[in-house]
Amino acid sequence: MRRGVCVSVCRTCGRKVFPPRLLCPACGGASWTRERAGQGAVEEVTTVRHTVGAGGEVSVSLASVRLDAGPVVVAGLDGRAGPGDRVELVAVDGAPVGRPREDRGKGADEADGDPLRIKRLRG
Ligand SMILES: [Zn+2]
Repeated sequence: MRRGVCVSVCRTCGRKVFPPRLLCPACGGASWTRERAGQGAVEEVTTVRHTVGAGGEVSVSLASVRLDAGPVVVAGLDGRAGPGDRVELVAVDGAPVGRPREDRGKGADEADGDPLRIKRLRG
């Protein structure tokens, strides 16, 4: 497991992209640097319940995570989270996985740590 994912940064205009690309979508530049990005907010979540060749019941949650650095990453979701919740990304076997960040605010105590209830409590 490694913290964060590797984001490519265009040397010409500074645009950050994930996954890596040959050419920058903003300026057409072809020279990149890389930086790690590990924090973001969930935009959408979907749950996959059927996969080809898998027997029995499968339940895998995938989230679109808007990194603080800018790009959106599709990541597995390790825990419960919904739109707007903060997650930390780690790389597990090379694949990005979002882990909900612990919220120690007042809402977290009221909701017993359930991120969906925290969101409702905060309105
Ligand atoms: Zn560029």
